Amino acid sequence: MGLIVQKFGGTSVGSAERILNVAERVREEKERGNDVVVVVSAMGKTTDQLVSLAKEIATQPNKREMDMLLTTGEQITISLLSMALNHKGIEAVSFTGWQAGIFTEDIHGNARITKIETDAVNKQLSKGKVVIVAGFQGITVDGEITTLGRGGSDTTAVALAAALKADKCDIYTDVTGVYTTDPRYVKDARKLLAVSYDEMLELANLGAGVLHPRAVEFAKNYNVPLEVRSSMEKISGTVIEEEATMEENLIVRGVAFEGEITRVTVLGLPNSLSGLSTIFTTLAKNHINVDIIIQSSTDAHATNLSFSIKSEDLEQTLTVLEENREVLEYEQIEWEMKLAKVSIVGSGMVSNPGVAAEMFKVLADHEIHVKMVSTSEIKVSAVVAETNMIRAVEVLHEAFNLSENKR
Ligand code: ASP
Ligand code: MG
Repeated sequence: MGLIVQKFGGTSVGSAERILNVAERVREEKERGNDVVVVVSAMGKTTDQLVSLAKEIATQPNKREMDMLLTTGEQITISLLSMALNHKGIEAVSFTGWQAGIFTEDIHGNARITKIETDAVNKQLSKGKVVIVAGFQGITVDGEITTLGRGGSDTTAVALAAALKADKCDIYTDVTGVYTTDPRYVKDARKLLAVSYDEMLELANLGAGVLHPRAVEFAKNYNVPLEVRSSMEKISGTVIEEEATMEENLIVRGVAFEGEITRVTVLGLPNSLSGLSTIFTTLAKNHINVDIIIQSSTDAHATNLSFSIKSEDLEQTLTVLEENREVLEYEQIEWEMKLAKVSIVGSGMVSNPGVAAEMFKVLADHEIHVKMVSTSEIKVSAVVAETNMIRAVEVLHEAFNLSENKR
């Protein structure tokens, strides 16, 4: 007998009928003789609707109250699922984040989990009950309610699995697993049997929405066996583990992509020792997330600097740079919007040189211009025009043997 943490996302609990379906999946796990902890998201698009509602009230809603509002979404689901299970004769109890002992840092809107006190959950488990926990929420040591960032229910599930030393964490969702790329855009995308934690972390950070990046981080740090699988179809999904074996003749495991990127170029920065640090410290202080950075010294006195940001951050970035013009001493700012980042990810790259070269050749052969590049041991990202994004994904997916018809 083991302990399983099951997590069901918004679509999987999107209606009364779906919640009843989830109750059946819980029952099956229970009947296999396991203890079960269930983490759920808010029903369907509830969180989005709550966000819109708040925006109708105030343009910049207070962050504390925003968390107060958004956490109600998950609270609806936990109570309904508990009712469903109890009605089916399976004893269950629902817990909000704080009742489940989930503590976070003191930040609203995007808090990290700092510790989990498992006593309350364990007590109910020992009585044979299914424990249902609200995803995406926690509490600070001062008793303030916080949220973990959009998509954060995955993190609740994995963190609970780690704290409870669960045997496995199953992430049930509306797709059947992790794909070589997003099947909604590329029809040849194929479901992967296995992915390593590191690859999944890259994929999640690079825009593959299937798992919250922090959830993968937790899973890796605490070695929690994860599986992403369908809440509707009873088939196995994608296992995420430390060392996933590469399928035959694959170097790349997946292609990720993300639009709405802007490149900002700061021209004529003085070539001082502290110039770079000042500019990025200023941006960081204003919570602007910078992704790819390219620096080139034009001569002994001046440096040009390009960096990519999310397009939604452009306005604020320009304001911050403008406000700090005197300190930063640059000459001019330029920017290019409507860009996208396309990335290939695979642990096979470590031992196979030339993968980046191959990527650029494929893109060049298809007349896709690369504007920025960044690499890590197991990924290569290229920034391209947004109009070329899907085409770039398709040709790379094909070139690196990921398509269904190549198997
Ligand atoms: N309900 C939250 C969201 O929509 C958290 C989650 O679903 O994981 O972002
Ligand atoms: Mg999600």
